[in-house]
Amino acid sequence: MKTDYSIGIDIGGTNTDLGLVDSNGHCVVIQRFATEDHGNAIEFVDELVNQIKMMLSETGIHKISGIGVGVPNGNYYTGCIDNAVNLNFKGKIYLKDLIQERIDVNVVVSNDANAAAYGEMIYGAARRMRHFIMFTLGTGVGSGIVIDGKLVHGFDGYAGELGHAILHPNGRLCNCGRRGCLEQYTSARGIKKTYIELLQQSGKSLTEEEMEKINGKDISDRATQGDVLAIKTYRLVGDALGLAMANAVAFSSPEAIFLMGGPVKAGEVLLEPLRKSFNDNILSIYKGRVKILISGLNENQSAILGAAALTRA
Ligand SMILES: [Zn+2]
Repeated sequence: MKTDYSIGIDIGGTNTDLGLVDSNGHCVVIQRFATEDHGNAIEFVDELVNQIKMMLSETGIHKISGIGVGVPNGNYYTGCIDNAVNLNFKGKIYLKDLIQERIDVNVVVSNDANAAAYGEMIYGAARRMRHFIMFTLGTGVGSGIVIDGKLVHGFDGYAGELGHAILHPNGRLCNCGRRGCLEQYTSARGIKKTYIELLQQSGKSLTEEEMEKINGKDISDRATQGDVLAIKTYRLVGDALGLAMANAVAFSSPEAIFLMGGPVKAGEVLLEPLRKSFNDNILSIYKGRVKILISGLNENQSAILGAAALTRA
């Protein structure tokens, strides 16, 4: 079978990664440039297209089947980025049109969590699954829902914002303007916040600088070494996520729920309380029938693979 190639692009607030991916899900080459260097969308797309052309000329591969883009607030139906909080480009950016004005190829845009779910289905551990949900834990918490082998986009392209399901009414203020969203407790930032709160409650006073320095890896290292408050932090994260996942099961009856992202690297210290909370909270008809799995994609390439997989939608 002749190999064909697509390009996957992952646009984040700090960096944009792009990769050339073959039909078996191998990243042939990866490039990166700074998203934040570009103050407006036109400049950014000019740079992006230059990078794509450079990649194609360097690899000698000139025919691609499409370009997939995973980006916060990316809309599958319109090909636009709508008011992404973490990007310099505000308002509505007609990303798909801007790329296609410069390169004549199929372009598919979606949000990053949907891309992750699609990547899992095309190249990862969900290859033979028709019903699953992906939770991505990072700076925020995203989710992608696959039902009957199809990614759910919803009426207007915004389906699957389970990170903004309210877990604690009147809880922590979220970037979305409401309070108590799941992502405020289970994202990398949320986990850090919980750990700092527990430290402060235990009577430890921390300087701004000390607080700034603590990162997710520190907390998971401390938990592995037996630090009681770090272990409690992950128990609270597991409780919250397990509950949210049990509720999500009642919505679409998935075969599995996948987890992806930095906080998942904490391993059993997170997964053990998560499984317990999931089993305690799940409706009895689903009990023992839904797998909790870690993404099967290479972590450094998962966003690119997911974006590239969108072109196979
Ligand atoms: Zn929110």
